[in-house]
Amino acid sequence: MSENWKPATKLVHAGTRRSQYGETSEAIFLTQGFVYDSAEQAEARFIEAGADEFIYARYGNPTVAMFEERIAALEGAEDAFATASGMAAVNGALMSLLRAGDHVVSSRALFGSCLYILEDILPRYGVEVSFVEGTDLQAWRDAIRPDTKAVFFESISNPTLDVIDIRAVSEMAHAVGAVVVADNVFATPVFQRSLELGADVVIYSATKHIDGQGRCLGGVVLGTTEFVRKTLEPYMKHTGGALSPFNAWVMLKGLETLALRCTAQAAGALALADRLAGHGRLERVLYPTHDAHPQAALARAQMTAGGTVLALDIKGGKEAAFRFLNALRIIRMSNNLGDAKSLVTHPATTTHQRLAPETRAALGITDGLVRVSVGLEDPEDLIADIETALDAV
Ligand SMILES: *Cc1c(COP(=O)(O)O)cnc(C)c1O
Repeated sequence: MSENWKPATKLVHAGTRRSQYGETSEAIFLTQGFVYDSAEQAEARFIEAGADEFIYARYGNPTVAMFEERIAALEGAEDAFATASGMAAVNGALMSLLRAGDHVVSSRALFGSCLYILEDILPRYGVEVSFVEGTDLQAWRDAIRPDTKAVFFESISNPTLDVIDIRAVSEMAHAVGAVVVADNVFATPVFQRSLELGADVVIYSATKHIDGQGRCLGGVVLGTTEFVRKTLEPYMKHTGGALSPFNAWVMLKGLETLALRCTAQAAGALALADRLAGHGRLERVLYPTHDAHPQAALARAQMTAGGTVLALDIKGGKEAAFRFLNALRIIRMSNNLGDAKSLVTHPATTTHQRLAPETRAALGITDGLVRVSVGLEDPEDLIADIETALDAV
């Protein structure tokens, strides 16, 4: 039924399960277990649980199922499995898919924890990982081999906002039968149809835009029913990365306002990019769909808006960046993103501190770079905050 609904309708109604009380707002089923009416029923459920039959919250829960169905309907995915965090989703998708001897190609510009899984954890279990410059299609072509099992990328990278050509990379991967796993956090499910572009598995940290108010950790993996039920679910349900029912409820309610929030925040981010481009104290302003971004045309072809994050490269390196950060009044320093509150981080000294200086330089993470996650404040106030702080540099 929800297949024919427009996205805004799906965000409010898809996946709703009402109890016998007919509650308007989704119930939080804060329960680990479920009682059986008979021994026969318990036996039958362990053989095969129906869509509305639950066994244990590590496997599934009605509130979690509502969240999974709603996000799957929005994404246009056959199925979804909700996880305790975005990293539980990345780890679950990759660990359930891969085994010793497999080869993976990944873009190098990754969120620090994603890089840790691909660079440190997977090789420990005999998985070979080749890293490429994600914006270089020839590099993908050279690295993908007949035995490549999966490719992994952040469709918009953190923090430099590189845009991956999902269609082109997916075609190369599919030519050798590799599974395309896309971390789509920055693009959001509102602005990009990753599965239609060619991704097979899509991952979100729900902690970001889906919660959208900085409260709970959560994540989700979306894909075919075959992948989710046969490959992912056995791994997740036996390793304990399940989303808590309470957090699922927060995410479910977050979905209801997701499109409204993301649209307003992206409009704010674009307004900031427009106003700040060419500012005398800035080396670069990066926002995926803004003319000044080297891949603006690709971003516009792939996304209906550039997301809620922009990056500013402040002239004068770390010292200037710190003076700027310390002078901000509305935009607060924190490494979360997608929040209703605008947040700013200095990747070189926080999220990407672990990387060698040469690696940071290769990724374009200069000492002057700050990442701004635009919230729901009035963009005029945010621009004034940034301009005043730039004056203080
Ligand atoms: C935040 C983030 C993650 C991890 O999500 P958590 O919910 O913090 O575990 C993964 N990928 C990207 C791109 C992120 O921004």
